[in-house]
Amino acid sequence: MSHTLTLPTGDQLHYQLERRQRRTVGLKITATGLVIHAPKRISQSQLEDIIVLKADWIRKKLTALTLYKIPVVQWQDSEQLLLLGNTITLAIEHNVRSKAVEHTPGFLQLAMPNHADQAAVSHKVIQWYKKQALADFARRLEIFSSKLGVDFKSLTLSNAKSRWGSCNSRKEIRLNWRLLQAPPHIINYVVCHELAHLKEMNHSPKFWATVASIYPDYKAAEKELKSWSPKLHIM
Ligand SMILES: [Zn+2]
Repeated sequence: MSHTLTLPTGDQLHYQLERRQRRTVGLKITATGLVIHAPKRISQSQLEDIIVLKADWIRKKLTALTLYKIPVVQWQDSEQLLLLGNTITLAIEHNVRSKAVEHTPGFLQLAMPNHADQAAVSHKVIQWYKKQALADFARRLEIFSSKLGVDFKSLTLSNAKSRWGSCNSRKEIRLNWRLLQAPPHIINYVVCHELAHLKEMNHSPKFWATVASIYPDYKAAEKELKSWSPKLHIM
């Protein structure tokens, strides 16, 4: 149940209330805001007293949430996208005849008859990213596999939410198409990481030494990849 409480400061606080079989009041900040788990027998006024006592803590947490929250892509004209670590602008043109997608410096230009259909725009853009990703990743795999002296069998794109790459004993490599949004050196790192697994199917010191042999600065790249991660998931 959705509630609004006016705090003594005059601020309005919105929260979701869930009554549970429990003894204490639990406050949780989630992606959608404040959620309160309260015992079934506690009265609304007792509950509000507790919220007022915790108001400072709640406000701090909610502020942090809005500061760090990364918005999802709106599939419309002039939206900013990421490509190889750079920002590009989506330029959508209404065109009844053409369905072209063109990448020019700083822009991804789409021509389509149903330009206001966000699902159609998203589909078209993601298709384009996947196509570019396949060509881009294949080229990097070629370069680094010959450096390392290993053969891989195939490259496929993945759509995983949390993994950037994987490989198996059949030497099949999967890379997340969303990586195409990351800077080239980060993509290279993921490529080298997966290729190193073709020699060492674990994360042992021997494995990391193999990674380092083709990508010396892997520790910094691993950290950078983590910090890029939320941004790479806006699409
Ligand atoms: Zn690994």
